[in-house]
Amino acid sequence: PFFKEYLPENLREFPILEAKLNANENPYGPSPMALEALKKSAAGGNRYAWKELFQLVDKIAEFEGVAPKNIMMGPGSSDLLEKTAMVLFMNGGNVVSADPAYMSLIRVAEAAGGTWKPVPLKNDWSHDLKAMEEAIDSETKLVYICNPNNPTGTTTDAAELLDFCSRISERVPVFVDEAYLWFLEDGTEQSMVSLINEGKDVIIARTFSKIHGMAGLRVGYAIAQETTLDKIQKITRAGMGISYPSVFAAMGAMDDTEFLESSRRQNMACREYVYESLTQMGLEYVPSHTSFLIFPIEMEGKDFLKKMTDLKVGVRAFNFMNRNWCRVSMGTMDEMKLFTAALGQVLT
Ligand code: PLP
Repeated sequence: PFFKEYLPENLREFPILEAKLNANENPYGPSPMALEALKKSAAGGNRYAWKELFQLVDKIAEFEGVAPKNIMMGPGSSDLLEKTAMVLFMNGGNVVSADPAYMSLIRVAEAAGGTWKPVPLKNDWSHDLKAMEEAIDSETKLVYICNPNNPTGTTTDAAELLDFCSRISERVPVFVDEAYLWFLEDGTEQSMVSLINEGKDVIIARTFSKIHGMAGLRVGYAIAQETTLDKIQKITRAGMGISYPSVFAAMGAMDDTEFLESSRRQNMACREYVYESLTQMGLEYVPSHTSFLIFPIEMEGKDFLKKMTDLKVGVRAFNFMNRNWCRVSMGTMDEMKLFTAALGQVLT
């Protein structure tokens, strides 16, 4: 594995940023309807959200077109990725995924006793499904696919992925992380959720942290077969970590389609602006389908982060495919202007 991520050395001392573009948050959220629901429900915080969590589960099940028994809730999808990894890898085994990929599930799988079998993305940045299939062996406990992928912001053809998940899940469960799905214009068509009603052993993760703008409110869910969810929930009670007001905020957010549409639009406008600015600076970039994008930098990641942070702009730096990369999240247009100005200064 050659994937390397650079993190700020001390998060506590992380300076006040003027443009916080390092965690793929939505600068516009929470939505007006989510905020309203949050305010109204705050006083209910003396109660556990048992009944209310079921209301949210029912609402999600209806939205996804699956049964409530196929839904597992968590305080953010990180919780569900990590719990899945803990349960599946406590007796070893390997996880097959792309490289680079979003590392949260993989790191916990390794910590629990498993190993990572990375398969490089193809030159067009899509998953190398053929090579991933070949990488599966008798020790493979899970295939992890992030689509659209983080940190690259790129997608894999939905029809090919559907065929892959459908066939492979007969041998080994496939986890599809769809955190950024709703930034696609045809997200519903690109989802793998239809496989649930076909009885396939796929686990799909979704989050309210991204397009819904609720990263700090912590709500996410997984959609999977009941037997798979039972295995995980026997060991951990997945929904217990979600606060009473967050349950209501999530229900409000689901209804606020106007906010979701405006987030998607503004995100696209920022992406176009960054593409143009990078081109003007003579820089390449990887066209993105998400709320962030990557581009190669001719500078060591740690130095680059330090220089950008000194200018009060927070981004991320990675090294993969023998190159250094900057990943920048889409903030407000004003933040993106601070970013391009800082980048111009750092690179010249
Ligand atoms: N999956 C992907 C691909 C992500 O990029 C993130 C967050 O950045 C997560 C999952 C976890 O987000 P959360 O725990 O806020 O749902």
